[in-house]
This record gives sequence, structure tokens and C-alpha cells, in this order.
Amino acid sequence: MIINSRMRACFGVKTQQLISRVFRHPVHPSAAVGWRLAQSRLLSAGESKPRPSMLKHLTFKIKATGPITVAEYMREVLTNPVTGYYVRNNMLGPDGDFITSPEISQIFGELLGVWILSEWMAAGRPKHLQLVELGPGKGSLASDILRVFNQLKSVLDGCSVSLHLVEVSPGLSGVQAQTLTGGSSVESSSEDDPVFRRGETSAGLPVFWYRCLEDVPAGFSIFIANEFFDALPIHTFQRTPKGWREVLVDIDPEKQNRLRFVVSPSPTPASSALIQPEERRSHVEVCADGGVLVQQISRRIVEDGGAALIADYGHDGTKTDTFRGFKGHRQHDVLSSPGSADLTADVDFSFLRTMIGGGVACLGPVTQNMFLKNMGIDTRMEVLLRNCSHGPTRMQLIRSYDMLMNPEKMGERFLFFSLLHHSRLAEPKKSEGMKLEDKSPAPLPVGGFTEISFS
Ligand code: SAH
Repeated sequence: MIINSRMRACFGVKTQQLISRVFRHPVHPSAAVGWRLAQSRLLSAGESKPRPSMLKHLTFKIKATGPITVAEYMREVLTNPVTGYYVRNNMLGPDGDFITSPEISQIFGELLGVWILSEWMAAGRPKHLQLVELGPGKGSLASDILRVFNQLKSVLDGCSVSLHLVEVSPGLSGVQAQTLTGGSSVESSSEDDPVFRRGETSAGLPVFWYRCLEDVPAGFSIFIANEFFDALPIHTFQRTPKGWREVLVDIDPEKQNRLRFVVSPSPTPASSALIQPEERRSHVEVCADGGVLVQQISRRIVEDGGAALIADYGHDGTKTDTFRGFKGHRQHDVLSSPGSADLTADVDFSFLRTMIGGGVACLGPVTQNMFLKNMGIDTRMEVLLRNCSHGPTRMQLIRSYDMLMNPEKMGERFLFFSLLHHSRLAEPKKSEGMKLEDKSPAPLPVGGFTEISFS
């Protein structure tokens, strides 16, 4: 269900007040308005052993068991516990391979902070709020969100808030801990502990790190994922005269240390299971892991209440071939020097919607430009510019805004998609006991997907 973005709706008075209170605050002194300072490449510093070759690992694997699926290739290259790209690199920022919205501007996280609070309020202000972030990068987004929570302490009065981070990279979790807890976190001594690191922010808010979503405890949660789903492994398929066939990665017979794509001569389990009967495209990418993840999130929202906001490069079931690599902010051949570059594929939101299957309500996808505009980015920019007389900082503010909002840059390539409990969009019910979803006085419009009136 897509709410018409032109429809002008007013947020509840309380939510408007909440937004204007956040907007009064100036540029955060440590948060870069522009690109945040690159952190030192902590993860590769002090390594004594030579880096094991991902290419060797993959060629041994293929020689032993035959060509591998693109999903297996992507999973190995990105998240192999020893040599994986995310496990070994600090890839975010101007000195890394790519830059993300929260690394470009503090405003991004602030607006998401407001979104989270307004959804928590719309759910009847539950006593416990778990903020769950998938793939937190350097921790900048969570840090900007928590700053908003801190500014609005009185709104959250009586609510115990905790932060739960799902992260595959132990090294990056250290960077996140530095950002969020000032390095006061401790790593678990047992590999079996689902919480592999824990700490506390300077405001006393508990922070927990997990390897996977299953390990995050049950409870009312708002889930956030920015540029996370695009890093999950995809299967790719080609329509052929004999039917759908899966694309595989094999060793190039001409050059033993090179890889190439081949088309499987016969159906694979994935080609039999993952293609939708109504599929019209001739080349399709399917992120089965992303599908499983949204099902897990939906189940939690149904059982415990909450909402999810997913932002990523994406499309709504129209694109065909989006698998690509990034190294040093440039496109990189996905099969060359695996492990040295980021691998990514646009998120197919229509597939996610199919996998959700109606258990929760879905909003979007809408473009980043529309979402941030609807959340009031222009009003926030006005306040920041009015309070800033330093020429270079003003220029940086304007450049960051352009990067996030320009349709040619991130404005239209990035999409926002939300999962909500069905009661969130339902007409208000007459009092039916004390269930969480019945406490909301009225179904307020969902921020970002509907234009907000600032009066
Ligand atoms: N959300 C951040 C970072 C995006 S980069 C931002 O917007 O700046 C992707 C993040 O997801 C990294 O932190 C990476 O280590 C993590 N990640 C990638 N694949 C993962 C997986 N399968 N499980 C958990 N975390 C993963």
C-alpha cells in the first residue's frame, strides 16, 4: 500500500512539537555535517599474518565441489569469518569504498530518530523500546538517533530504551562501540554467548551486539536497516529456451586464477524454488536471505508490536542486473580480486513484499527525496543555515543536502520501505481492554510516507 505523497496530512500536535524541538538544535559539534572524518583503518592495523587469499579459497572450493551460486560467492566474499570483506575492512567514508547517508549528514539520523519516536508514540508509548539496527557500520546512524532521544528525554520519560545491534564484523563492532560507548564496552569471553559485546552509552543506555537477528530478545522493537539488505547474498537467474537456469561462478578454463560466470545446464534447487510464477523479466536477482529476514521481522512485529524502516538502493520488481562491486568509490568488477571490494545488489522491494505476505502492513517504497522531504528536511536545513554564519560549513551543509536529495545522486536511487503492525493503519477501535495496539488515540499518518504539515 503506497500512501499518496501529495496528500497533505497533519501529524498529531504532539508529533509536530516533537519535531520542532529537535529542529531547534544546531549542528552537532562532533557529528560532521559533511562527510564524517574517516576513522583510521583500525581493522587492518597491526596485522602480522599475511592476509589469506579469498581467490585461493574460492578456487579450492570450486575445484572440490564444482561451480558455486552467486549467493554463495557473495556470502563468502563479504562475510567469511576469516577473509570476508566486511570482517576485514573498515570500508565506510571518504577513505573507504563507499559512503552512506548517515555518514554524509547528521540530519539523516535525526529525521530517522523522529520517525522512531513518532511510531513509538503511535503505538501507545510502550514501557520498553528496543531500537534494533541491522548492519550499523560505524555506529553513526544509531549515535544521531540517540542524540535525538536525549534531546527529547522528557517525551521518553518512563520508557526504558535499549540499543541492539546486529553486526557480522567483530572489527566494525569495535568501531561502533567507540562511537556509541566511548570504548567502554566489553567483549564476551564465550563464543556461545549470543551477545558478543555489550556496553553503555554516556547517557546510561544499554547497548548489545549480536551476530544475527534471532539472538535479539523479544519485545516491542523498532528495526532500522540502512544499506544492509543490499549486502545480503543474491541468487541470479537467466531465462533460457529450456526454462529458468541459475547463474553460477566457475574458474575460467583459460586462466586458472580468474573466475567467470556460467549458466547452470540444469535446474538448481534455487531456480526451482525462487522464481515467481508470474515473473516477466528475462534476468532476475533474488535475495532469499532478505526474504527470510523480513519474515522474521514481520513475525516479531505481529507478536511484540513495533515497526521496521528499511532504506536502500532498490526497485519495485523492475530491474534485472544490478550486481556490482565498489572499491575506492568506483565501480569494480565483481569477480576480480574478491574480498578487496564491496559487493552489492539493488533490493527488490516487490520480492520482500511477497515474502511478507500480508502478515504486517507495508508502506512504500518511496524515494529518499520524498521520505526526507516529508519528514521535514527542508525545515531542518533552514534552521541549520539560519544559525550558521561560517561560509565553508554552510557550503558543506548545502553539498550534503544535495547529495542526499538530488534525484541524480541519492534522492531517487534510494528507497524507503516500512513494515507496520496492521493496527497502526486501522481505524481507531472502541476500547477493547489494554492491548498495546488499542491505546493509540487515532491512526496518525506514518511519517515520511505522507507529507507532514509544519504549522
Ligand atoms: N548502516 C550503516 C552501514 C552500512 S554497510 C550505514 O548506513 O552507514 C553494511 C553493514 O552491514 C556493515 O556494518 C556490515 O558489517 C554489516 N553486515 C553486512 N552483512 C551482514 C550480515 N550478513 N549480518 C550482519 N551484518 C552484516
